[in-house]
Amino acid sequence: MGTHQEGDVPVRCRVRMGKDGTSECGRAVYRDEEVCICHSRDLKKDEVAFYNMWHAVLASTDLIDLSRFVFPDHIELDRTKFGRHTLFVGAMFVGEASFRNATFQAGSDFSEAEFRKDACFADAAFSNQPMRFISARFRGGADFGGARFGLGTANFEDARFSGAANFQSAVFDTADFSKARFESDSYLSHARFLGSADFASTTFLSAADFTGTYFERQVRFVGDGNNLVFASTATTSFLSSYFQAPQQVSFHHVFLGRAFLRGVDVRQVDFTDVEWAARSS
Ligand SMILES: [Zn+2]
Repeated sequence: MGTHQEGDVPVRCRVRMGKDGTSECGRAVYRDEEVCICHSRDLKKDEVAFYNMWHAVLASTDLIDLSRFVFPDHIELDRTKFGRHTLFVGAMFVGEASFRNATFQAGSDFSEAEFRKDACFADAAFSNQPMRFISARFRGGADFGGARFGLGTANFEDARFSGAANFQSAVFDTADFSKARFESDSYLSHARFLGSADFASTTFLSAADFTGTYFERQVRFVGDGNNLVFASTATTSFLSSYFQAPQQVSFHHVFLGRAFLRGVDVRQVDFTDVEWAARSS
């Protein structure tokens, strides 16, 4: 950053925030940085001052805008009720982030957020759209077990799960996991998809467990190019999963050579370009 000349010192933080990323932070810059304490990536930044800043935002009566905030330590917001539209767009969680049993009552956006350690949204309730985790990065485990996603689309498009991803017994209305990437085991057993479930261009690199999962409407598992959705080395289980509208279920260009489909009525399911055995290259 270098030494600022008198006169061109950026006294206000210009990090983009707001619903469309169109407004600027405007807070005073932190020490000799060009951004404020909330957006400073200094992991040793003044703990108390930062805590007071972001807790003031939580109490906001308008938008709860924590876009691109950098949380240097673990945060625990279990059972918190977010009564306003809540933005964690591009936020960085350096430590564990826990939102267990939290309630997002007016929409939430975690798009492009980066969770460097475990993220816990177990039993959280997302009451209204939008519920966005578009391009979010979960570098540790991601626990959405028992989470309830309300009306609207639970949008995990292009999200990347490096650790185990747990969505056991989660309840979705519409779910978009297109282009999402599950790099470790994923657990969607006993989840309920009450709207459409989109797994187009999704990648499961390890075991995928859909045991006892309920799909009420359209379901799409669609690969593209070399991506056949499911790994050729790990087990995929659809044991006892239930497709309420089998004529709207499609498996296109996918690998199902290690998939268990026992107990599934697949008579009307559309299987096109499915690989039932691993390629011997
Ligand atoms: Zn700022």
